[in-house]
This record gives sequence, C-alpha cells and structure tokens, in this order.
Amino acid sequence: MSLPPLAARLSGLQSSAIRDLLKLTSRGDIISLAGGLPDEQLMPQEKIAAAADAALARRSRLQYTESAGWIPLREVLAARESARLGRTVPLGEVFVTHGSQQALSLLAEVLLDPGALVLVEDPAYVGALQVYRAAGARIVAVPLDADGMRVDVVEQLLARGERPAVVHTVSNFHNPRGVTMSPERRRRLAELAVAHGFWVVEDDPYGELWFERPSPDPVATYAPNVIRLSSASKTLAPTLRVGWMVAPESVCRAVELLKQGADLCGSALTQQIAADLLADTDWFTAHVDSVRAVYGERAKALVAAVRGRFGDRVVSTDAAGGMFVWVDFTDGTDTSALLPRAIEQGVAYVPGAAFAVGAGHENSLRLSFVTSDTTTLTEAIERLGRAADGRPQS
Ligand code: PMP
Repeated sequence: MSLPPLAARLSGLQSSAIRDLLKLTSRGDIISLAGGLPDEQLMPQEKIAAAADAALARRSRLQYTESAGWIPLREVLAARESARLGRTVPLGEVFVTHGSQQALSLLAEVLLDPGALVLVEDPAYVGALQVYRAAGARIVAVPLDADGMRVDVVEQLLARGERPAVVHTVSNFHNPRGVTMSPERRRRLAELAVAHGFWVVEDDPYGELWFERPSPDPVATYAPNVIRLSSASKTLAPTLRVGWMVAPESVCRAVELLKQGADLCGSALTQQIAADLLADTDWFTAHVDSVRAVYGERAKALVAAVRGRFGDRVVSTDAAGGMFVWVDFTDGTDTSALLPRAIEQGVAYVPGAAFAVGAGHENSLRLSFVTSDTTTLTEAIERLGRAADGRPQS
C-alpha cells in the first residue's frame, strides 16, 4: 500500500550534501574541516549559564513571548544596529527569528511568488539555496571574485530584461567562498536595487568575525530595500537560536504573520540570555575580540599550510574573517573524487560542487578553520596532501 503523495514543490529538494557529509565524518580519527561549526571551547558557557539562572528565576521567562521577539532583546539589537547602520533603527524594524535561517525562510514566503527570480552568489550558501528552491523560485547564479558578488553581472542581467524579486548576498566573509564585497559594489548594488525595484537580502552572520580590519559598511547602509540579517550563532552560541533582521516595518509585519503560523514565537529564555550578553557591551566586545584572535591565528595557519603543501597547485583565499577558506586546484584535481581518498587519510572537507547553483566548482573545496587548533589544521593539510598526491596509505 503506497502512502499519499507529498506536495509537488518538494520534488526538486535534495538533502544538504554538507549534512550528509557531517554524518560520515563523525568518526573520531577523522579531522573534519567540513562542518561550519563554531568552536565550542570559545562559547561563553559560564556567562550563558549565569544568564540562564537569572532568567529562570523569573516565571515569566517560561511563558510565550512576542512573535517579533522579546522587547528588551529587540531594544539591545536596535541600539547595536543603529550604531552599525549609522541611523536610528526603530523597534518596529527589528525582528528576532529562530536563527537567521528562519528569517531566510520566512522572507522567501513574504517576498517571492512561485517562479519569482532570485539572484544568488555562486558558489552559494546551501541553506539559502534550499529555502529559495522550496519557495519555487527561479534561481540564477551570479559569480563571485575577490571583491565579492560580481555586481556588473547583476547589471548585465538587468540590461537583458531580467527582473529579480530578490538578490541574496553574503556580503562579509562569504560562506563558502570567504570573500567580502567591496564598498563600491555595495553602493552600486543598493543603487540598482532602488532603480530596478528589487529587494536585497544581506545575509551577514560573519560580519563581526573580522581579523585585520572591520568589515565595510553594510549594503543596508545605502538603501531602504535592503533587508539585513544577522545572528548570535557565530559570536555567542548557535543553540540560542537567536537571529534577527532589520527590515522596513511593512516587511516585519508580514514576517510576523507568518512567524505566528510557523512557531508562534521564539524562546523567551534564550532571548533573555542573548539580551543579557549583548547588553553587556564591554564584556561582549572583549569576548568577540578573543574569538577573532583565535580564529585569525587559525586562518593564517591553515592558509600557510595549504600554500606550503600545495604551492602553485592551488589558489586559496586569504581568510580575512569568518570561518572558511576556499581552495581552487589549478591542476584539474576533482575534489569530489578526492574526498573518499581524503577520508581514508583521515581528513574531511566539503567539495566545491556541493555549493554550486547549477554545475561547477569541481576543482574547488571549502575548509573550515574554526573547529581545530593550529597543530591539528596543519596535520589535516598534510593528510589532504597525501590524499591528493595519491600516495599509498602509510
Ligand atoms: N547565513 C549564512 C551565510 C550561514 O552560513 C548560516 C549558518 N551556517 C546562516 C545564515 C544561518 O545561521 P543561524 O540560523 O544559526 O543564524
């Protein structure tokens, strides 16, 4: 007896290659540079525990909260975002979501009719691709270079008569590509958004994780039709599931209606924890500084190991922030075919093809430098080198 069918729009959806891979690499002897998991050792466990104790002392924290987010958290976020955007952001433009991933999925429902055009960077953040595919969008890829999204390609598409509803960008320390959009391109993208009447979704969970110099002013600084997403996952802890968006009030009101249908509201408990930690600005600044220092050192070690081991066989990003290094093999190495050999050698990564909007990136791979210390990263690259050399197992 067969079960009744599922909705037709699910037919194009596949399980995330990253998630499938993570299952494969949980073996203890494998160094996994595949996952995008922030280092647990750097998460402020004691501070979170103290804030949780304080929150749990109030019965009201066991209650439902506002769909748009617990108001004191939105106040803290509005103050932070006002400083970031250089204007006073009113409370009605700040909306708390269950991680920024939920903002992506609710926004897709709010902004996209089936068949609407979405431009995404290629390689793409897989979580965004999943959302836009599920929404039935027509997805067109825009390439990236060292200065981020090729906004000139967006212009060409517009000149050809394409009418995007949404342009999605991970403007800082792109996942998976590692690059940051230049200030000139940010300004131009915002101008185009206004001139052609499309939304920009500026997905920015990594902006605070810069190593040498702060990331440029957000695209959202330049136009009102840019919706800015941010998150506490990479600076505090993913388990809080606290993300937020800054968007025009009309968008926030529409997202609120959908959030009521999705989950009524977020957790008052974790929202108070996030509010307490973000409101303690001296502590938060020092905390993020220390995360940056550790990640920055690891990024440098990883890039040095990659260049030292592979030389001109690869071109790799510099990793000026965020969590990832993107490596292109210039000698035609197929990174999907290499993966089983790498796993045999005890190292895992994500092949570039997993991030492709259509096809491509077969000779590239993404390495995460945040979860391992510098010695482990160097050993991981040695193992990758052995796999790529095709030497027999030692
Ligand atoms: N956007 C990007 C670009 C990401 O890399 C991630 C997490 N890996 C997210 C959004 C979602 O993060 P969260 O839901 O934990 O805030």
